[in-house]
Amino acid sequence: MIRRDVLVVGAGPAGSTAAEMAAAAGCDVLIVDRKAEIGSPVQCGGFVPEAFELGQLLPNAHLPQSLVEIPSRCLLHRTSLQRLYSPYGRTAQFSVAGRCLDRRAFDRYLAGRAARAGAEIAPGTRFVPGRENRLCGRASGKVQAEVIIGADGPSSATARLLGVSPRAGAEVGVCIEYEMVGVDIDAQAAEMYFGTAWAPGGYAWIIPLGQDSANVGIGIRPSYLSPGQSLTYILDRFIARHPQASQRLGGGKVVAVMKGLVPSGGMPSAIAGPGILLAGDAAGQVMATSGGGIPLAMVGGRLAGETAEAYVRGEGQLSDYPSRIDEEMGRELGSSVKIRSLVDLVMRSDRSMDLLFSRLEPEMMKDIMRGKMPGRLGSICSKIGL
Ligand SMILES: Cc1cc2nc3c(=O)[nH]c(=O)nc-3n(C[C@H](O)[C@H](O)[C@H](O)COP(=O)(O)OP(=O)(O)OC[C@H]3O[C@@H](n4cnc5c(N)ncnc54)[C@H](O)[C@@H]3O)c2cc1C
Repeated sequence: MIRRDVLVVGAGPAGSTAAEMAAAAGCDVLIVDRKAEIGSPVQCGGFVPEAFELGQLLPNAHLPQSLVEIPSRCLLHRTSLQRLYSPYGRTAQFSVAGRCLDRRAFDRYLAGRAARAGAEIAPGTRFVPGRENRLCGRASGKVQAEVIIGADGPSSATARLLGVSPRAGAEVGVCIEYEMVGVDIDAQAAEMYFGTAWAPGGYAWIIPLGQDSANVGIGIRPSYLSPGQSLTYILDRFIARHPQASQRLGGGKVVAVMKGLVPSGGMPSAIAGPGILLAGDAAGQVMATSGGGIPLAMVGGRLAGETAEAYVRGEGQLSDYPSRIDEEMGRELGSSVKIRSLVDLVMRSDRSMDLLFSRLEPEMMKDIMRGKMPGRLGSICSKIGL
């Protein structure tokens, strides 16, 4: 029997942050990840706003130091703009200082911080929940912990112990992304492209990784797909045929393919229960308007680690965790889900989406991407008959 104060399932941004916090405060922490190589394969675009932008995005959150100051070895590039394309090619842009991560290096960096704080790490180890929880792989056997922190991503097995799923509440976003080289992109701009032909129910993105390389992907909702369409087909068509993007991407070469899921329905009905906390994607802590989850996962992880540590010391309850999450990012999480539902209404029609684009000022779009409901959005929607 493996016994620990805290078992953290998943060594992504949420899990490693949680493990670092709990271990640094003196808990006996084991962190397991089914990946033999932490951080690989990558399932992410790696775009994270600079710390001062995050301060505006999540004004009540205490950002972990590891998110505020990311070491240069984990950074591939920096951008200064976000540019949006409507289905009919209208553009809008606003300033956003962004960091483009080497996600593999970043996950390893975070896991290293957890290890240096005292956590034991078991890569290549899967957590199997059940009446008796088990570990399989490098660490193997029955496992017991005073607290299990489920930071095991959008298909969380740990969430099943609470009878919930981070994929409930709204249709999950499915994503495919290519790392491309030899592209002729605007290295200053992270770009988003909308339109039913290019990214049904979601958007396509270009995240620069340098002068001639980029992560190029689409995130869509399956119910918006026409019969017979595959994700690969849609992304290839975007690269080859989008009027603006194809000119930048057409000559590029694909060097890596990544796939993954993004929960976009907000937090499930329970993120804490007897002996269990959920953090990051496993807890639906994702900005539903953009699908960006790294900053929220790290704030969620920090709070889960702190709550677990206080509980182990006998100075707090696990049931404190949801209200702490609410205090630090509940408003932004909630309104991003509402905005996403509203934008969903528009997304099925390119005409309506284009009209919405024409009515929104760039700063309002920035607010929307940050999960802030601009006062006029509701009235604009009713004006265009939604
Ligand atoms: C294609 C794509 C692009 C994205 N781009 C961006 C972006 O540009 N910016 C951004 O902010 N967000 C982006 N996201 C979202 C972001 O990747 C996630 O929100 C973030 O990784 C969440 O961190 P996490 O620690 O909660 O989960 P994860 O990073 O998913 O980590 C979960 C870990 O748990 C492990 N695990 C799962 N099950 C088990 C088990 N049973 N036992 C042991 N280990 C297990 C997994 O191996 C994994 O390492 C993107 C997502 C996708 C799919």
